Amino acid sequence: MLMKQNNLIGFPYSYLQDFLIKHGIKPYRAHQVFIWIYHYKLYDFDHMSNLSKSLRILLKAHFYISVPQILSKTRSQDGSIKYLFELKDGLTIESVWMPAEKRKTLCISSQVGCRLACAFCMTGTMGLKRNLSSDEIIGQCIAVNNSLSEQNQITNIVFMGMGEPLDNYDATIDSIRIMIMPEALRLSSRKITLSTAGQVELIQKFKNEDLHVNLAISLNATDNETREEIMPINKKYPIEELINCLREYPLKPSRRFTFEYVLLKGINDSDEDAKRLSRLLHGIPCKVNLILFNKFSESKFRPPSKERAHTFQQYLMSKNHTVFIRQNRATDILGACGQLASQQPSPVLV
Ligand code: SF4
Repeated sequence: MLMKQNNLIGFPYSYLQDFLIKHGIKPYRAHQVFIWIYHYKLYDFDHMSNLSKSLRILLKAHFYISVPQILSKTRSQDGSIKYLFELKDGLTIESVWMPAEKRKTLCISSQVGCRLACAFCMTGTMGLKRNLSSDEIIGQCIAVNNSLSEQNQITNIVFMGMGEPLDNYDATIDSIRIMIMPEALRLSSRKITLSTAGQVELIQKFKNEDLHVNLAISLNATDNETREEIMPINKKYPIEELINCLREYPLKPSRRFTFEYVLLKGINDSDEDAKRLSRLLHGIPCKVNLILFNKFSESKFRPPSKERAHTFQQYLMSKNHTVFIRQNRATDILGACGQLASQQPSPVLV
C-alpha cells in the first residue's frame, strides 16, 4: 500500500507505474525515474531533467530516495569488506563484499537476526528482531556500489547474510525483481543466489514466481536426528520432504541447486554421512559446497581437519557429485558464513 512517503529505492516498478497512472501520467515515466536512480545514481528529483516540473513536485510529495547509512567498513586480509549499516530505527545489519578476479559478490542480509536458530550460526543466536523492507535489502547493494570504484561494482548477489530470505518473502521477491530489471541493477538471474534453510512450503510458493535465480539449500546433515539438533526447522520439514520438494522443482535446463554443507567435527563429517549424502542427492542436478565451520566464541562446535574434509569430498566425487570445499572468506573480521550478527561499529578502515 502507498504510504504518504515511500522510499523509491526498492519500490516496485509496477507500483510506481500504478501511482503515475492514478495521477494521469504516462506509465513510461517510471522507466525514466528508475534510470535516474539506478543507472545515474541521482537521488534529487530536482535534477531529473527530463521530468516536468509538476511531476517532480508530485514525486517529491510522495517519495524520498535514501539508502541505509554505512556505519563502518572493515577490510579482511583477503580483500573482502564487511559493511555495518544503520537502519532508520537504529538497528544494524551487515553485508560482506567479496572480490575474486572479475567477480565481485555481495552477501546481503534479509532480516535483522533470524528466528530459525541454527546451532552453528551466530545470527541464529540473536533471534529475529524484524524483517528488512525491500529498500533496506536493495539499499545494501546501492550503498556498497556507491562506495566502490567502477571496476569493483557488484556482479553477483547472494542472500546468505543475516536472516532466512524466504521468511521475509514479499520484500525478498520485490528486491530480486529490482536486481534483475534492465532499468535497475541489470543483473542476470544466474548471478543471484537465494539461500534457504529448507522451508518447503515457501520453496513451493517461490517456484511460481518465475524468477530463475539460483537456489542454495543449507542442508548440513544427512539424518533427521542430527539435522533437528543443529537446524530446528527440520522438525517441521524433515529431510525427505525437503529433498522430494527439490526433485519436483522446475529447474531450467543447465541449472542446478547448490547444497551448502557446514562440516562440524564429530557431528556430520563421518564416512557414513558422506555415503548418506550421496544417496540423498542421487539424481538431483546439484553441486555441493563443503564449508569448514567458522568458529565464533559462543559456539561449542569445531571444524574438522582439512584431511577429513578432503576425504569427505573425495568420497562424494567418487560417486560423480560435483563438490567444492568452499574457500572461507573474511574469517578474520567475522564476516564469513554464519558469523554475521551486527557487531558493534569498528573504526572505518577503508
Ligand atoms: S543459518 Fe541462516 S537460517 Fe539458520 S539461523 Fe543462520 S541466518 Fe538463520
